[in-house]
Amino acid sequence: MRRLPRPLHLILAVVFLDYTLYAWHVLTHRVPWLWRFHVVHHVDRDLDASTALRFHAGELVLSIPWRAMQIAAIGVPPYALHVWQNLVLLSILFHHSNLELPIAVERLVARFVVTPRLHGIHHSMVPEETNSNWSSGLTVWDYLHGTLRLDVPQQAITIGVAAYPTPADVTLANSLALPFTAQRPWRMLPGDGEPEAHQQGPTVNELAP
Ligand SMILES: [Zn+2]
Repeated sequence: MRRLPRPLHLILAVVFLDYTLYAWHVLTHRVPWLWRFHVVHHVDRDLDASTALRFHAGELVLSIPWRAMQIAAIGVPPYALHVWQNLVLLSILFHHSNLELPIAVERLVARFVVTPRLHGIHHSMVPEETNSNWSSGLTVWDYLHGTLRLDVPQQAITIGVAAYPTPADVTLANSLALPFTAQRPWRMLPGDGEPEAHQQGPTVNELAP
């Protein structure tokens, strides 16, 4: 990649970094000892821009070797890493925010990048909804992997993790301790089974503007 013209190298580096971040995000849910840390990000019961920064320090440390592998495998020069890091920060602040875009805008933007509506579905308490919309930048990765959900209205979603539904579960002290304590089965409301899935609504492409 190093012999490519600089603008093309930049675009390819950003795209591959975005895809390998998708892979990392899936791993943080699928690998139990990574989930112990990533769950701290998900137990937030309100989705807003502050959630974008609410990652356990342990997850940030664990992501360093992955980031090093991304950079080495893709051949990312420092300037491209800098551009990507700024884009990721903008993207995660945007898609964790509590903005509700007009449907016409949502439809257009969601074709390309992750919106608050799409990422809110990933933060739903309903396990099948959590297991969707893994992208952090471009939505193309969810399209390609068949993991895109467009059909849950923003207002219908209960944000959080079923196993940790109360404010007392997610105090700062409890959140910091969470990776190191006995894990509750994350899909289950305490003593009450799994939260019920939403009726499949129209996708954003089917909604009238
Ligand atoms: Zn996640």
